[in-house]
Amino acid sequence: MENFNVLGKKIDEWKNEYPLIDDMISTREVFWTNPLYGNKQKDPSRPITKKDIQDAEARLARFAPLIMKAFPETEKSNGIIESPLEFIPNMQKRLSELCGVNIPGKLCAKFDSHLPISGSIKARGGVYEVLYLAESIAMEHTNLSWTDDYSILKNDSFRELFSQYTIVVGSTGNLGLSIGIMGAALGFRVVVHMSVDAKQWKKDMLRSKGVTVVEHTADYSKAVEAGRKEAEKDSKSFFIDDESSRHLFLGYAVAAKRLERQLQNLNIVVDEEHPLIVYLPCGVGGGPGGVTFGLKSIFKDNVHCFFAEPTHSPAMLLGLMTGLHEKIAAQDFGIDNRTDADGLAVGRPSGLVGRILERDIAGVYTVQDDQLYLLLKMLADSENKFLEPSALAGFFGPVQLMTTQSGREFVMERNLLHKMSRATQITWATGGSMVPKTEMDKFYRQGVAVTEKMGNSSILRKA
Ligand SMILES: *Cc1c(COP(=O)(O)O)cnc(C)c1O
Repeated sequence: MENFNVLGKKIDEWKNEYPLIDDMISTREVFWTNPLYGNKQKDPSRPITKKDIQDAEARLARFAPLIMKAFPETEKSNGIIESPLEFIPNMQKRLSELCGVNIPGKLCAKFDSHLPISGSIKARGGVYEVLYLAESIAMEHTNLSWTDDYSILKNDSFRELFSQYTIVVGSTGNLGLSIGIMGAALGFRVVVHMSVDAKQWKKDMLRSKGVTVVEHTADYSKAVEAGRKEAEKDSKSFFIDDESSRHLFLGYAVAAKRLERQLQNLNIVVDEEHPLIVYLPCGVGGGPGGVTFGLKSIFKDNVHCFFAEPTHSPAMLLGLMTGLHEKIAAQDFGIDNRTDADGLAVGRPSGLVGRILERDIAGVYTVQDDQLYLLLKMLADSENKFLEPSALAGFFGPVQLMTTQSGREFVMERNLLHKMSRATQITWATGGSMVPKTEMDKFYRQGVAVTEKMGNSSILRKA
């Protein structure tokens, strides 16, 4: 490779400063641990507080009667949009066998794939931001009060009010789905700018709900930019900014409080002797970032959160490692940002998330697409759970923590080795239940093909 210039520095200088960049450019899997992790010397910028998460949780509770009415599938949970946390012992056994190392502790999955409304983690952030907007508009223009039964927001007078406003968003797919479905249910006009990699069925589903879908031939960042420009032209347009929205972030953060209760219900203790390790697929960073922020505010040093990215889209990894956050992108290094992992096909990370969490993210690792398909098939066979490829990125984490050199060093240095057998490890299964069966069958067949090609040993293959 020629010695080209990136952000004013020669590629060789980058490699000297950050040796991992060589592997990243060659799209080899890496496991990076964050040298700033747990550093309490300098207070990072904290534009968001624990109190903000409580407010967000209270807002979601106010909307529960409305959600229950608009989405009958939420009746069981009284209008609270939540997903199950489950042990996955068969998957744990398969993973242990294949990587030849015991995956210690209890392995669980958090099945956001099965969240009501839009079947992905975006049903947290995206739905929350639409509700926040609806409440602000209603408060400004009607005499709605916090103590009202919010199911009245489904009445014609409110729909009429909301129909005067447009919500605009740029998305690789899932964010568009959650905002489109929720926005349309309340009567908003919704315009979703979709990147080139967005799936046809997602566009079709949105259009069937009356959402305007604008298709772009460029990637995610360009779709977001187009959305932002469009919204600026109209004072009754709101642009939902996946790259730096605090409302999205707060919607995701509420997940941590719900998880705390679920852990209690499963009699899982988290304390100094019983660490919690969480693996979160990362696109722009809002979803995993919000969850991490929430978890850190509850469990402090007893929880460790790792982010997972495709080898072709290591956005957050680049941003955190260099400290340049949104000023650096995978494409700057010629990394192509092409991956089957829809929600993760992001080249430039959120600066908001990176800055808030630069001392709270334990590390970031990358995964090849083939590995995602392999894990997809493995989870389907062992636990009968079907996820979209992105959602499998977290399942690679427990393997990498135990088998990579940097993973093992992390375990040693953080004094976790003797505690691992008492640890709980959670892989965040971020999406999949809305994927049409024909598409899911294709994913599974791809998993079969990859498994045959690699004889299952790919999980052992080290960068
Ligand atoms: C969006 C998404 C993510 C990651 O969330 P970000 O906020 O983009 O980091 C992970 N998995 C799936 C399935 C997603 O749709």
